[in-house]
Amino acid sequence: MIYMDKGRVLREYFGHREFRPGQERLVDAILSGRDAMGIMPTGGGKSLCYQTPALLLPGTALVVSPLISLMKDQVAALRASGVPAAFINSSLDAAQLSKVLERARSGEYKLIYIAPERLETEGFLSLVRELDVPLVAIDEAHCVSQWGQDFRPGYLRIADFIASLPRRPAVAAFTATATAEVRRDIVELLGLRDPVCEITGFDRESLFFDVLRPADKLKTLVSLLREREGRSGIVYCSTRARTEQVCEALKRAGFAATRYHAGLEDSERRQNQEDFKFDRRSVMVATNAFGMGIDKSNVGFVIHYNLPKSLEAYYQEAGRAGRDGGPADCILLYSAEDIVTARHLIENGGAELDAETQALVRRRDYARLDVMCGYCRTTGCLRGYILDYFGQEHDESCGACGNCLGEFSSEDVTVEAQMILSCVVRIRERLGYHVGRALLSETLLGKEGGRAQALGLDEISTFGLLRGTSPGQLRELIDFLRLEGYIRTDPVHSTLAVEKKASGLLFGGERLLLPTRKDHAAAEAEKKRAKSRRSRTGSLPEGSEGLFGALRELRTRLAREEGVPAYIVFSNATLTDMAAKTPRSMEEFLEVSGVGSVKAAKYAEAFIAAINEYQSP
Ligand code: ADP
Ligand code: ZN
Repeated sequence: MIYMDKGRVLREYFGHREFRPGQERLVDAILSGRDAMGIMPTGGGKSLCYQTPALLLPGTALVVSPLISLMKDQVAALRASGVPAAFINSSLDAAQLSKVLERARSGEYKLIYIAPERLETEGFLSLVRELDVPLVAIDEAHCVSQWGQDFRPGYLRIADFIASLPRRPAVAAFTATATAEVRRDIVELLGLRDPVCEITGFDRESLFFDVLRPADKLKTLVSLLREREGRSGIVYCSTRARTEQVCEALKRAGFAATRYHAGLEDSERRQNQEDFKFDRRSVMVATNAFGMGIDKSNVGFVIHYNLPKSLEAYYQEAGRAGRDGGPADCILLYSAEDIVTARHLIENGGAELDAETQALVRRRDYARLDVMCGYCRTTGCLRGYILDYFGQEHDESCGACGNCLGEFSSEDVTVEAQMILSCVVRIRERLGYHVGRALLSETLLGKEGGRAQALGLDEISTFGLLRGTSPGQLRELIDFLRLEGYIRTDPVHSTLAVEKKASGLLFGGERLLLPTRKDHAAAEAEKKRAKSRRSRTGSLPEGSEGLFGALRELRTRLAREEGVPAYIVFSNATLTDMAAKTPRSMEEFLEVSGVGSVKAAKYAEAFIAAINEYQSP
């Protein structure tokens, strides 16, 4: 075999010029036999970190991966790039399995993907005793942590499995979940030894973030989808019922929509997922059950119809857009009612836990929801808000999110603020203790027959002062006062108390302005966005849209002939680069980002012909 180094593997197999920041350090660590942990956002390029060393090290690397569909996609993509790889999971029948085992035994594969539950089966254990295993990589490593949302008991056995190997391999864990708890669990429960740890930038430059507060979500959704005709995307809903309803409505409006949630039969779920993957259906309406197994790189938008329960969940779901580095949109449709639903879900969750754990989990979930709500309400840079949460430095303004591009007007809410603050004070005087937001709202709205009245709060002077305000608006105001430090929330009891700062507003003649974003006409926003996009990565140069379309058609045809999803042939980012570089020779074709030697050999001719044909009329 010709001499290979990591740079050459990167070019020849994956068609990339250079490693992204972080990737190289992890590759080096693994090559030198050390353990490693990579925390990178979805689409950050985790797979290359273990695939590159796997190709360079002698023997066969094992990759533990949680989902069958994920493994299938990864292996298909590797094979398309000329890498000998296979997977072992419950989707194989006995004959297929024994074939894979036999080939594995002869050392044919550089990578074997395996489900955690399969590690301890006898067939596999006897195989690995004969194999040279230089590396065990663990994908979606947060599944080992009970703090994470995707806990998989099978992951707890990985450490024992590794310990049972004749020679300890390098162990490398990867995840997009960034919290300290999860990171600690990964190191401890997977038994990583002094790992080289790389937490890369969480910024995804090519993603456009926006939060909208439509009066009519469905109408807004339909017009957002119309603006994105021809691209594929995901619409996330918080419940099965909502998923059904939105999917039906979209179909009636003429969209090629399909659905995914835990209440469907396995076979339908699989079918719908495939339809989306192969671009037979362009819009997937789903609950958060959909996604982790999806490696589709050409998702052009992710729209959240409801509020996710944490910013982490949001970023993970939204991050499924634009994994190929092309421009993509992450839009959240927000309404104050969503918070009620989210709280309801928290209140009704965790029934299987003991009381103490349940209380702990709820408190944590409320805290997470608070951060999420903050994202919806902030008037500052949305990207900045996310990066703050992940503890990353950033510019004050990204210049390219909904808030950075939006126009704000401000409304004087001094009087309303004074009423709220004095109501907090009056309730405390009356009852001798502080109350939470629900009682405060009841009192201000003057609700008859509720708990406030039962407690005698209808006798204080502030009862009903904000009658006529909608509960949603009132909630916004209270949250704004909290955000601005006029009110504090007790971290344990969630009761509200007035801060010293409030006296300026109550007695010092200060004014309070509430900034609200003018919901720009969609077309106007799109124009601005297109302008800001052009200066960003992976966008088409002016005038090459037609060629891009022709290349995309060719890709669709080739993918159909081979029976693989389009992005397995080439990603959108690769087609974009191809349309810009217009290669006319094999040499030039290899210069296109994402084109390795195997794909070049297979596809150069067809694509160059398409380019020639397009350019000579
Ligand atoms: P993750 O597993 O972190 O979600 P992937 O490994 O699927 O991300 O990579 C996401 C995309 O980034 C893929 O389309 C991949 O080809 C691309 N990519 C990864 N590393 C590089 C690199 N060094 N240069 C250019 N593109 C890259
Ligand atoms: Zn911004």
